[in-house]
Amino acid sequence: MLLVPEREIANLMTLEAAFDAVEEVFAAMAAKDAYNFPVIREAIGHEDALYGFKGGFDRAGLTLGLKAGGYWPNNLEKFGHINHQSTVFLFDPDTGMPSAMVGGNLLTALRTAAASSVSIKHLARPDARVIGMIGAGHQSTFQLRAALEQRRFEKVIGWNYHPEMLPNIEKVANEAGLPFEAVTLDGMQQADVIISITSAFAPSLMAEHVSPGCHIACMGTDTKGKQEVEAALIAKGTVFTDEVAQSISIGEAQHAVADGLITSNDITELGAVINGTHAGRSSDTEITIFDGTGVGLQDLSVAAKVVDLAQKRGIAIEVDF
Ligand code: NAD
Repeated sequence: MLLVPEREIANLMTLEAAFDAVEEVFAAMAAKDAYNFPVIREAIGHEDALYGFKGGFDRAGLTLGLKAGGYWPNNLEKFGHINHQSTVFLFDPDTGMPSAMVGGNLLTALRTAAASSVSIKHLARPDARVIGMIGAGHQSTFQLRAALEQRRFEKVIGWNYHPEMLPNIEKVANEAGLPFEAVTLDGMQQADVIISITSAFAPSLMAEHVSPGCHIACMGTDTKGKQEVEAALIAKGTVFTDEVAQSISIGEAQHAVADGLITSNDITELGAVINGTHAGRSSDTEITIFDGTGVGLQDLSVAAKVVDLAQKRGIAIEVDF
């Protein structure tokens, strides 16, 4: 069995490797070669922690396993560890023997950023030049970095509920040599692509804030009750997702479905666009929406990639288990 500790991930994983892993597994999901297991998420009644498992099996990539982890709100203050903690476990699908244990904290941010980046590649207008960020927390910088790879963006605009956090994304824009402008929500009308990545439980982005032809990646809503985007905006656009079952239950589309504005039949897996069984964007004025809910197979695919890279570089720690 191989171990790849958290401390090694930053040196091993690249944006490109994460992108390829997630694009491949979304395609496998849509082709029904890969599926996610039901998600377990429990308040364990200790340290206010939320703990759970996300797992799945990719028959095409032969990746089997799970990510175990969650959120410990007191970690930073009490123990000096980050609050989100996760570890990926991979198993040999032929034998059930454990094959790898991989640090999952940085990988989670990279696989989430890769998902919206894949959606931009396949759904944004080719001439997209202005990218708008809603959210400026931990995930937002990873999101922006990965998104900038996909189009010849010329400007980054941003709005955040806590404006004092906007320098986080301004820094990423400037590192890429792009100007940054803080805007009001109305100012988002300039954007050709919008990524929303907040922990909000009420919508900020309304239909009137979005111009025709925009692609929106809704990445923050991954739990029942969370919401970043007005349900009417979801109904106005064409909705794509990683997994339909999660989109309608814990994703951004949960509200539009609950309000009776759309049904699960109106939502397409992004993998279908990658595989060419769905045409994707149909006009320059269509609003496309990616509801990125975060699936276990994303975690497993990037972890498998990291194990490969670690083996090639002689960094993986082999244990007799
Ligand atoms: P963070 O705590 O670092 O940042 C939170 C962000 O939300 C900040 O921009 C903050 O200003 C904003 N915010 C907080 N309260 C708000 C409110 N009431 N209205 C509008 N904005 C508000 O969190 P993070 O690590 O960046 O994660 C952001 C979100 O992404 C979380 O909801 C997290 O669960 C989700 N997430 C999703 C996936 C996925 O696969 N889809 C993966 C990882 C994280």
